[in-house]
Amino acid sequence: MTGATHGFATRAVWSGRERCPATNATIAPIYQSVTYTLPHAGAPVEFDYSRTKNPTRNFVERQLAALEDAEFACAFGSGMAAVTGAVSLLSSGDHLLATRDLYGGTHRLFTQVLPRYGITTTFVDTSDIAATWATATPRTRMLWLETPSNPRLRLADIAALARTRPRDVLIAADNTFASPLLQRPLALGADIVVHSTTKYICGHSDALGGAVISNDPEIAAQIAFHQNCVGAVPGPFDSYLTLRGAKTLPLRMEAHCRNAKRIAEFLERRDDVAEVCYPGLPSHPQHELAARQMSGFGGVVSFRPRGGAERAHAIASSTRIFNLAVSLGGVESLICLPARMTHASLSDAERAELGITDDLLRLSVGIEDIEDLIGDLSDALDVTRSAADDREACARLVTGVS
Ligand SMILES: *Cc1c(COP(=O)(O)O)cnc(C)c1O
Repeated sequence: MTGATHGFATRAVWSGRERCPATNATIAPIYQSVTYTLPHAGAPVEFDYSRTKNPTRNFVERQLAALEDAEFACAFGSGMAAVTGAVSLLSSGDHLLATRDLYGGTHRLFTQVLPRYGITTTFVDTSDIAATWATATPRTRMLWLETPSNPRLRLADIAALARTRPRDVLIAADNTFASPLLQRPLALGADIVVHSTTKYICGHSDALGGAVISNDPEIAAQIAFHQNCVGAVPGPFDSYLTLRGAKTLPLRMEAHCRNAKRIAEFLERRDDVAEVCYPGLPSHPQHELAARQMSGFGGVVSFRPRGGAERAHAIASSTRIFNLAVSLGGVESLICLPARMTHASLSDAERAELGITDDLLRLSVGIEDIEDLIGDLSDALDVTRSAADDREACARLVTGVS
């Protein structure tokens, strides 16, 4: 009932739904059934077994495709299952190029699992187009992009990379941080979009999920084949939660963006904050690209307080609304210390190369009242400030510098 002619919010609410022929239920039912009664043996039916196809999963797959303005979507049981689904397009001997500062789980898959299947990965700074393609080899079959990246929010120019790519190189973009509301990689020339729907799309931190989305029937058929073979599918209830959550994506995302911008500006004004990373700030090195490529700047803000790792640690344990936890994209605000949490598995050298310093804090800004969020951060900065000042004063005494 909805197509590309309808606006994003209309698609979010209505796409994927079909009136239930048995009851006329307005809201998509949760079909728990694993198996489906056949009219006779060998009858061609749409549904026969829920690993292959389930009506509730079908609803969310149609909704996710509609959100990316795409033809095909396959839902998976987690974002990592979706990433694995997308790289199942590769074969032994193929080479993968990937954004350097990748989601930790994706980095682990590419470095510790894929090599055992004969697929090698080179990590590149995909914000540098010439350097990216200089790293391609005749065996390169895919470029894996994450933009904005985690946790430093670096961008890659999807359209420019798509225009300049060598033949036979597919472009896959992990669109989790932006969400389909803010960025449409397929329209910019990418072949495949991957989501951890666990984050903004579901939006309530209560269902894991992932999706692989494309406009190419051959790619879609291969992904669906993998989905059925491997069986990393979301259950009907999680499919329903994702479907339900995604209906309010535009409302939530607008609130995330609005609050994150206010917080980034607040942090940038504080003299006890050394650096703020947010693509919506004119001080972000790729602000112009962000404004061109995205229709909003997202809900994640990273920053480095003055006072070093100890103060960052103290801030992360002092906030009352911002919860100390990994993950992002839910309605609730979270704070994390990437070097000790999401990126703890990287070596010191790898973290240093990516600028993930021990004092870097990442905020997933929720949709609470902005005055409360700024008040919470302001209090945490104030109570940790004197300790940092004392330590700096001590250090000056010890070193004899005044
Ligand atoms: C969380 C995340 C993933 C993995 O998703 P899960 O649902 O946790 O498996 C992949 N990419 C990005 C950018 C993420 O933030």
